[in-house]
Amino acid sequence: METRDKGFNTKLIHAGDYDDALGSAVPPIYQTSTFRFKSAKHGADCFAGRDSGYIYTRIGNPTINSFEDKLAQLENGYRGIALASGMAAVSTVYMALLDKDSHMISSDAVYGPSRAIMERDFSRFGVDYTYVDTSDLSQIEKAIKPNTKLLYIETPTNPTIALTDLKAAAELAHKHNILVCVDNTFSSPYLQKPLDLGCDIALHSITKFINGHADIVGGALVAKDPEVYKKLRQTMVFLGGNMDPHQAYLVNRGLKTLAIRMERSQESAAKVAEFLENHPKVDWVKYPGLKSHPQHELAKKQMSGFGAMISFGLKGGFKAGETMMDNVHLAMLAVSLGGVESLIQHPASMTHAGLSPEAREAAGISEGLVRFSVGIEDCDDIINDLKHALELV
Ligand code: PLP
Repeated sequence: METRDKGFNTKLIHAGDYDDALGSAVPPIYQTSTFRFKSAKHGADCFAGRDSGYIYTRIGNPTINSFEDKLAQLENGYRGIALASGMAAVSTVYMALLDKDSHMISSDAVYGPSRAIMERDFSRFGVDYTYVDTSDLSQIEKAIKPNTKLLYIETPTNPTIALTDLKAAAELAHKHNILVCVDNTFSSPYLQKPLDLGCDIALHSITKFINGHADIVGGALVAKDPEVYKKLRQTMVFLGGNMDPHQAYLVNRGLKTLAIRMERSQESAAKVAEFLENHPKVDWVKYPGLKSHPQHELAKKQMSGFGAMISFGLKGGFKAGETMMDNVHLAMLAVSLGGVESLIQHPASMTHAGLSPEAREAAGISEGLVRFSVGIEDCDDIINDLKHALELV
């Protein structure tokens, strides 16, 4: 069925073409590494692009292709590329778009490994970079150099929940012929569509909201322009960070409920954020839906909902964070986010424990910061769990 002209929920269910020879209601798992050619000529035609037949799963596979097609339609993009992980998507973008002596500008509060691979690895190949607070456009403008090729933005950021004005950032970047890639993991296309806001590539860790069930790791890219798509696709195929057909099957299944999962999670997130904001042991709460969020107006403008990710600061600092982590029962003490189950983590004692308090502070991670991914459990149970843990802080 042609779904490009249909609504978001219809696309979630019906978009994503697949070869339906036996009439299966969902895309089957083509668990194969390679595809049989009908003849030598058929093989030659497939390689030359004269025939759209499949060749080899790293290059393309119907189960994976179905997911790529669906996500591209959800992001209003040209085509999608599915990858083994969010980090495979990040490294594919860097590898495809940055050359020796080129320069990238990026949000300073991006997901740690997205920054680490640039500073540790791409720098070895002569790529230059500048990290700035992209929520301040003047900082982006000041960082632009004649060799800047890519502006890499995460919004909202992880775990500081800061927003960047995507429309304004894309207009500025395009004046200088700079491509804009947006890590859209925290929002998903249900809440934010970077390509509609003028950006060039939407990037996802589909491990999170897109799949939504904490049972696979995966990544994806959607490009607006066919030439950019071609570059990304070629790099993915040569770098080999492709998705597996079984992964794609699970994402095709998980993605169908994105809208109802997001609605439920963000409805609870609004209540949880309000509860936390009024709690005497909580110093501050960062949630784009709160009026107290410094970019609440921007969130209303560029997002169609405020999402399910909350960060908050405990007055008791590090010790309070540890005590809270040891006393939550319903919220799972785990990294990752965006699943149906509520997940909580205290970066200072967990993900960022290896950094000094000063280095954590510089990364915007105060000693009492807690990150909470709100799931779809009963909201009263979520709040009672937090209430109980906070009483013991
Ligand atoms: N981008 C964001 C915002 C993330 O939170 C993550 C993982 O937590 C990634 C990218 C990397 O994704 P993956 O873990 O699927 O490689």
